[in-house]
Amino acid sequence: MEKKIQKIKQQVTQCTKCELSKTRNNSVPGKGNYKADVIFVGEAPGKNEDMKGEPFIGIAGKRLSMALESAGITRDQVYITNIVKCRPPKNRIPTTTERDTCQNYLKKEIEIIKPKIICVLGNTAFNSLLDGKEIIKFRGKIVRKNNQLYFLTVHPAATIYNQKLISVLKKDIKKLFKLIRELKNRREIKVDIEHTS
Ligand code: URA
Ligand code: SF4
Repeated sequence: MEKKIQKIKQQVTQCTKCELSKTRNNSVPGKGNYKADVIFVGEAPGKNEDMKGEPFIGIAGKRLSMALESAGITRDQVYITNIVKCRPPKNRIPTTTERDTCQNYLKKEIEIIKPKIICVLGNTAFNSLLDGKEIIKFRGKIVRKNNQLYFLTVHPAATIYNQKLISVLKKDIKKLFKLIRELKNRREIKVDIEHTS
């Protein structure tokens, strides 16, 4: 399992399948525990991530770490990745073509790690994974699509400019890990939205 994840990492590092490869400094493969119960999926690397080749290490990453900490979770217990693995110029939202071109890497990460639940961070991931929009209206909810569970919450970067959202993110992350404990104990959980694709 670790070998398979390493292989994807290597492929991402060398990938030139889309235009973003021309402007990046470093690709940013997913990082974390390949035995994790949960994969967090953001949008795309930002400036700091592009410099270091690691996901969520800038201000948004600090917010995510804070929220995890408040739920008693460390980053090495989870796996963190993005919809696209290279930084879009000026942090613009990745295009549909870029997302489509990159999606196989995320698909493989999910296949290998087999998370109990995927935590969708913000609108780009929501849109790409579940055709959703306005995640703020759906945050805190559980979606099931093709037998995979998803949990929806706001993007950690959104909490930087809106103080209220940090408590929302913390509350959601606590709920997420409560759900994970229930799933591990094989308890029935309530699915809020059945996604029909
Ligand atoms: N924002 C994201 O969506 N992903 C990162 O890795 C960093 C910031
Ligand atoms: Fe390859 Fe994805 Fe980077 Fe595009 S964003 S070059 S598809 S790794």
